[in-house]
Amino acid sequence: MSPAADGTGAKGDLRAPFVLYIEDNFHNRRLVGKILASRGIRVVEAEDGLSGLRQMRQERPAVVLLDISLPDIDGLEVLARIRGDAALREIPVVALTASAMHGDRERFLAQGCDDYLSKPLQALELIAMVERYLEG
Ligand code: MN
Repeated sequence: MSPAADGTGAKGDLRAPFVLYIEDNFHNRRLVGKILASRGIRVVEAEDGLSGLRQMRQERPAVVLLDISLPDIDGLEVLARIRGDAALREIPVVALTASAMHGDRERFLAQGCDDYLSKPLQALELIAMVERYLEG
């Protein structure tokens, strides 16, 4: 989406922070979109890792919510590419991990993610986490 087209002003307008949610599951995207919209938080969605990376280069998100299992490159690889890219590496990333998959958390933290949330997502926990990053 074009930031100029929705009246928010110049590209990368810092007054309009948003969440980038990289997730292939439609139901999860709809759920998170609803929860965050209830707090007036803008969510931009990407259905796979490569389009998420492309989106990040177009318009810088305040925080990325990153699913692990994605149809093209997985979340760990997305994170590695974010941290390996000078233009993207400062962007906070929250990994969404299934609570049973403890190994995933360690791998993500080692790879440089800032936080993680357990699936199934809890609305209040999600809101608190996202607002912390939006407030900077
Ligand atoms: Mn997935």
